[in-house]
Amino acid sequence: MEPRNTADQAFVRETNLSLVLRLIHNQAPVSRAQLAAITGLNKSTVSSIVDELLERNLVHETGSNTGGAGRPATLLEINPQAGYIIGVELGVDFVSVAVTDFLGNIVWRRREDADPSEDQEKMINQTLRIVKEAMTTGKRKNYHFLGLGLATPGTVDLNKGVLIFAPNLHWRNVPFVKIFSEQTKLRVFVENDANAAAIAEHLFGAARQCHDFIFVFAGVGIGGGLFLNGKLYRGKNGYAGEIGHSPIMAEPSQNVCHCGNRGCWETYANQYSIIQRMQARLEVKRTSIIPKLMMEQNSTLNIPLIKQAADAGDAEAIDSFTEAGHAMGQGFAGLINIFNPEKVILGGPLSTAGEYLLPAIKETVARHSLQEIGQQVEVQLSTFGPDASLIGAIAIVVDDALSHPVTIERR
Ligand SMILES: [Zn+2]
Repeated sequence: MEPRNTADQAFVRETNLSLVLRLIHNQAPVSRAQLAAITGLNKSTVSSIVDELLERNLVHETGSNTGGAGRPATLLEINPQAGYIIGVELGVDFVSVAVTDFLGNIVWRRREDADPSEDQEKMINQTLRIVKEAMTTGKRKNYHFLGLGLATPGTVDLNKGVLIFAPNLHWRNVPFVKIFSEQTKLRVFVENDANAAAIAEHLFGAARQCHDFIFVFAGVGIGGGLFLNGKLYRGKNGYAGEIGHSPIMAEPSQNVCHCGNRGCWETYANQYSIIQRMQARLEVKRTSIIPKLMMEQNSTLNIPLIKQAADAGDAEAIDSFTEAGHAMGQGFAGLINIFNPEKVILGGPLSTAGEYLLPAIKETVARHSLQEIGQQVEVQLSTFGPDASLIGAIAIVVDDALSHPVTIERR
């Protein structure tokens, strides 16, 4: 349809700018001719759009494509310095802040432990202090900040920018966007941690060309980002993906989940379940180097310690991970049967033990998913491992910038 007036023309122009910018982000290095072929836009339109992206400093020309027949074509890629982003991950027991360039490369970062039993205001102030330090550093280096993204466990109302409920933090109705935009004067976006991580895998990571995949965030809880038909699936109220609370089996003896229920999948497969499995082995006096490590490091039983023991060949530690991997695999198999995804990606703190969890997950997936579906799915680790949600916080800002390139201030 021909644009009728200048407002329509501006809209079409921005839509095309976004389309081409996103393709360069996804397919770089890429030529103008390739962009025209993929988008179906004519070559002169593509050239004019590329000129504007070059003029706005959002893309660069990079060498030329000399392979094949015909004239060599100049290739385009994203300008990493087009803008910088601040990402914040509010974990259950830590706060992580990073600054990245437009391609998600980390140029500054800080992680601090946080005590979830402390009150909310204290943890938010701790986060703001680190964010302001990041901004001061950025200012010194003359970074142009595009915005701040915040990834948090729990359900998020995207329109209001409010965390509705985080069972693992026991927080309700926190107006994150209001708090952080008032304090930083930046554009602020908030998103559920697993959803954010899924967007990161799609923009920068293991799922770059993938239209159907599920991101599983495993740590204190288990969350999911469902990426279906090329888009994040949010459900009616935006709460979709709370896969950890799908009921596996409710038995009176089972641990109570953070959500208050019994029988939730995550209680069998979260980091606490691994600690519990290891604890049970120690209680029946199985031979393990764990008690020695705990004593040497004056440490409680935790995942890094169990991982250290597993790395040293400790059979009990390896078995604890394997058991949890089987429990994870059951949940994976259910998701695979329902959604028939191309990939399932494991990230979050527990992915640091991925080498022990993944073989068991794959074995259970092969056993419990329907053959035709299970054989084709790829189960793999996140590109960003324990940083998946932190990079996710960055990705939601980049994603917005790619959708609305004209809002990016000219440099
Ligand atoms: Zn639950």
